[in-house]
Amino acid sequence: MKLRLAIVGAGPAGIYAADILLKYERSFDVSIDLFEQLPAPYGLVRYGVAPDHPRIKGVIGALRDIVDRGDIRIFGNVLYGRDITLDDLKKHYHAVIFSTGAVRDAGLDIPGVDLPGSFGAAEFVSWYDGHPDYPRTWPLTAQSVAVLGNGNVALDVARILAKHPDDLLPTDIPDNVYEGLVASPVTDVHVFGRRGPMQVKFTPLELRELGELRDVEMVLHEEDFHYDEASRRAIESNKQVFVIDKVFTKWRERAAEQAQGEAAPASRRLHLHFYAKPVEIVGDENGITSYRYERTEPDGSGGVRGTGEIREVPVQAVYRAIGYFGSPLDGIPFDDERGVIPNHEGQVLNHHNEVVSGVYATGWIKRGPVGLIGHTKSDAMETISHLINDQGSWWDPVDPSPEAIPQLLAERGVSWTDLDGWHRLDEHEVALGVPHERARIKVVDRDVMVRVSRGE
Ligand SMILES: Cc1cc2nc3c(=O)[nH]c(=O)nc-3n(C[C@H](O)[C@H](O)[C@H](O)COP(=O)(O)OP(=O)(O)OC[C@H]3O[C@@H](n4cnc5c(N)ncnc54)[C@H](O)[C@@H]3O)c2cc1C
Repeated sequence: MKLRLAIVGAGPAGIYAADILLKYERSFDVSIDLFEQLPAPYGLVRYGVAPDHPRIKGVIGALRDIVDRGDIRIFGNVLYGRDITLDDLKKHYHAVIFSTGAVRDAGLDIPGVDLPGSFGAAEFVSWYDGHPDYPRTWPLTAQSVAVLGNGNVALDVARILAKHPDDLLPTDIPDNVYEGLVASPVTDVHVFGRRGPMQVKFTPLELRELGELRDVEMVLHEEDFHYDEASRRAIESNKQVFVIDKVFTKWRERAAEQAQGEAAPASRRLHLHFYAKPVEIVGDENGITSYRYERTEPDGSGGVRGTGEIREVPVQAVYRAIGYFGSPLDGIPFDDERGVIPNHEGQVLNHHNEVVSGVYATGWIKRGPVGLIGHTKSDAMETISHLINDQGSWWDPVDPSPEAIPQLLAERGVSWTDLDGWHRLDEHEVALGVPHERARIKVVDRDVMVRVSRGE
């Protein structure tokens, strides 16, 4: 018996799921085909993780080691729902795992959210990480910018906006991104969170990094640091919160010293505002003029309540970093509220909460857009153990032969890329960096990516 498995989505979740299954002690053979809509693999590790986080980008090395073993067949530039359908998969595989992640911005329902100059973080991240399906240019015309959200993505967006672009040159940012950032007139980036400084979702490492940016001053507001009982308890009981408090305390001390000294002022500032609930993005069809928020206060149990006091900060652009959201897939149940495929530990459920045979989910599309890359591993383990135990209910494909898929894609005129193609693109990007003494320059144009990959 041989399990022919399709995995849709070559981010960390899909690649780890394949790896775990191949290494799992089992009584049957396995052959895996991995489908990915982009001509390059690695999902949000390539197209989400910030370019100036080389240590995390380095996860790509571990993922590459897995695919380079050659025991997973790759079909890049193949979109599930268009190039290949659920019916196709049922004809040629015993089961499918969806690991399609979450790439859209979660909605924010406040007036002005659709004004020109109001952006979702996911779009901006896709631009600066060189995603082929996003515009090459970005309107970086604002001097003062608001970033809404208190998670790591908000910090990524704020940091990329505030950082001097030359400090990004050692990274793999595409040329168009560098040029866009050089032209930006930004001087002030304001990050707003609804709750207090001890309730943030930042990880301490990412927060600390902000204070190390060259020629960027951190601006905090003393009124945000009168801790309530819940905040004090959080500092005592949670190591992460303890470190975050230390980081803020150091910045506050530094600001107090600077106020007394004569140090030259930085040319850019990064302001952190807490207890600020979104109310309105103010402006008209010509653009944004300010961001309006309601001051909140601690409610005693770690949450906040509104105070009715409305404040306004002049800004010309607003970035919403309030979360990502999954996208529905053709023929597969979808939870519109949570943006995930409904599932029980990775077994996909229909709208009557019954297990759908042969269909599994893993990663952000299974769990929602929270958690680090490492979490996708444990997640995949759970899904794979169900897949293996469910052997009796897998599909019964009419033609499980490996040749059927390339034939089908060729008949449909799909220009797919394979593992050798990914290597060619990788080598090409590294070569582009050599004359500029950069480790790599990403190729952004999808057609060019496909042509380079296919050696055309
Ligand atoms: C801005 C940002 C920064 C982050 N920074 C960090 C960090 O510093 N450290 C960290 O540990 N984690 C970070 N994360 C989290 C990390 O990226 C996720 O935990 C992880 O990528 C989720 O993996 P996944 O495989 O589920 O989804 P993804 O990485 O999104 O992969 C899904 C893949 O499926 C493909 N796909 C989608 N739909 C289809 C379709 N219909 N057909 C074919 N293919 C499809 C996509 O193109 C993509 O390649 C960050 C996330 C974001 C958004």
